Amino acid sequence: MPSFELSEEHRDLRDWVHGFASDVIRPAAAEWDEREETPWPILQEAAKIELYNFETLASFWGDESGLSMPLVNEELFWGDGGIGMAIFGTTLAVAGIFSSGTPDQMVEFIPQCYGDVDDPKVGAFCSSEPESGSDVGAMRTRAVYDSARDQWTLSGQKAWATNGGIANIHVVQAVVDPSLGTKGQAAFVVPPGTPGLESTRKIKKMGLRASHTADVFLDDVVVPGSCLLGGKEKLDERLARARSGERSQGSAAMRTFEMSRPTVGSQAIGIARAAYEYALEYAKDRVAFGRPIIDNQSISFTLADMKTEIDAARLLVWRAAWMGRNDVPFTAGEGSMSKLKAGRVAVWSTERAIQILGGAGYSREHPVERMHRDAKIYDIFEGTEQIQQLVIARAISGRHLA
Ligand SMILES: Cc1cc2nc3c(=O)[nH]c(=O)nc-3n(C[C@H](O)[C@H](O)[C@H](O)COP(=O)(O)OP(=O)(O)OC[C@H]3O[C@@H](n4cnc5c(N)ncnc54)[C@H](O)[C@@H]3O)c2cc1C
Repeated sequence: MPSFELSEEHRDLRDWVHGFASDVIRPAAAEWDEREETPWPILQEAAKIELYNFETLASFWGDESGLSMPLVNEELFWGDGGIGMAIFGTTLAVAGIFSSGTPDQMVEFIPQCYGDVDDPKVGAFCSSEPESGSDVGAMRTRAVYDSARDQWTLSGQKAWATNGGIANIHVVQAVVDPSLGTKGQAAFVVPPGTPGLESTRKIKKMGLRASHTADVFLDDVVVPGSCLLGGKEKLDERLARARSGERSQGSAAMRTFEMSRPTVGSQAIGIARAAYEYALEYAKDRVAFGRPIIDNQSISFTLADMKTEIDAARLLVWRAAWMGRNDVPFTAGEGSMSKLKAGRVAVWSTERAIQILGGAGYSREHPVERMHRDAKIYDIFEGTEQIQQLVIARAISGRHLA
């Protein structure tokens, strides 16, 4: 019989991260949201307990059940969305290197994404551009190879990069053969201090404000051949297959996003659960018309729906995480389903939490307005709501819908 019971190891992992979220992240959430800055001292605390390093991340990825990543992310983001993303944003860059890099590249670049306990660093994954968000094929950033020098020159503009400009390592997606569309793209590492990479505009956001988001400009950025993830030989083979019309496994960026969708969904669930728990306690305490507001069915039924939706979304996330880890084919876009549902549930639940708190919910004296602002991003990044629908619709219809 299949079991939905978490193993003791999973429960310990969840409780460990929950403790950190509750003791360190939660108390600092409002402050860093207001400051709109990366909470470096909290990254350092996470590094101290070995929550922020590659070995730990690798152990989560290694879990054959696939559940470690969603469990950890739900707890971190239960603590706070912005700080959660400040801690976890590096993972996108690391995943890019891990999924496409050679063993030597992993050894060289992944530790540089994290730095060390005394001097923590962050990594950035730069795919989106001003004219290329959902439409990955519209990417314009070019990478041109100089075979005499074995080096690449990157030029273009990246948009919305989490940790863009403040990262030690930038993983940059660029076009190497414009005639091949998304199949003509490759990923490069831009090492620290490389001339020509600049970030002059930090974006002021609605939510996730403790997480740095910025435009990144690449003005003739020269990197050695060893910075092409996977290496030149593998790229040439892949381009040759694409030119001959053979089906490829998809670009490095798409693989990176595919790996991360259930994890991103679990972040949304963490925020949704935090808002639900807060609203539940508030509804038991708040008295109106001589009785706790939870005694009104409209309030208690809303809470019942919130709990049901959150649990349903979590099951979709866990299923997709398990499928991904065990190479079960996503025949109906199950990874996208999990993120689609979790994003919607987070936006809806946090909005309902504000409603349950009434005027208090609309004030910054309570965290639910921040949770709602943080939740909205889950309908947008890592593939918008509509792009998830498109992936699912294509999978179930077998048609190449646009
Ligand atoms: C806080 C934040 C952090 C981010 N971090 C990163 C990062 O670290 N790295 C990175 O590379 N990017 C990052 N992004 C970018 C993010 O992935 C994009 O914003 C997202 O992919 C959407 O692209 P877009 O903003 O260009 O919207 P658009 O693609 O312009 O979409 C606009 C609207 O049109 C809809 N739409 C577009 N095409 C279709 C279609 N075919 N059918 C139906 N509807 C469609 C979309 O769903 C959306 O509602 C981040 C964004 C934000 C806001």
